[in-house]
Amino acid sequence: MRPLDQEARRDELAASLDEVRRRIGRACTAAGRDQGSVTLVAVTKTYPASDVALLAGLGVTDVGENKDQEAAAKAAAVAAPLRWHFVGQLQRNKAKSVVTYADVVESVDSTRLAAALSSAATRLRERPLDVLVQVSIDGDPDRGGAITDGADPDRDLWRVAAAVDQAEGLRLSGVMAVAPLGWEPERAFATLAALADRLRAGQPAATVVSAGMSGDLEQAVRHGATHVRIGTSLLGMRNTLR
Ligand SMILES: *Cc1c(COP(=O)(O)O)cnc(C)c1O
Repeated sequence: MRPLDQEARRDELAASLDEVRRRIGRACTAAGRDQGSVTLVAVTKTYPASDVALLAGLGVTDVGENKDQEAAAKAAAVAAPLRWHFVGQLQRNKAKSVVTYADVVESVDSTRLAAALSSAATRLRERPLDVLVQVSIDGDPDRGGAITDGADPDRDLWRVAAAVDQAEGLRLSGVMAVAPLGWEPERAFATLAALADRLRAGQPAATVVSAGMSGDLEQAVRHGATHVRIGTSLLGMRNTLR
């Protein structure tokens, strides 16, 4: 983009970032929580590396991506020090790539994926990789997320959490979820909060609750989200549905 276009884009992003921060602030106040207790993860998927650089310049510290190829290219292109969160469904053969640029993988939902990340992280990283176990709140096995009904041991939430906790090169940091379609966000995030509490009872370091997107960040903050993942409200509508 030409410098002038970049300037206009910067102003646009500054305004939407302000608004998102205000929303988070109001939600914290309403919930009686500290303003600093919620981290904003800017989900930059489908938007160019130049937008990531502009957001970094505006004080954003954490960015999220959901496709390995796109994320790897952007992480290589942006020099600013950022925490890169991988939030998409991840195939095991991409583990080797993801561990080279991601600081956090939020979408671990099987013991086999945990094993693949562990072996890649052990070989290719100096520091442990932060991992969130993605929880399927409605238990639909066809979408991403670990489940609690015991139908598939490889994807059982408690087994996945234990596998991550015991894996070399990984650090179990908490849970992530997307409110299922057709569910009241309130009910979805209350369910997630109960699971997060239960996990934390056995794993006190697993303090992260990544929940809430553009449409439901208020409900997520009310139910204890420590991280909200915001795309549309920050960057605009995406062309593709993903
Ligand atoms: C795209 C995406 C988001 C951001 O969603 P918006 O509704 O655009 O804010 C958050 N989490 C995940 C896992 C995503 O894939």
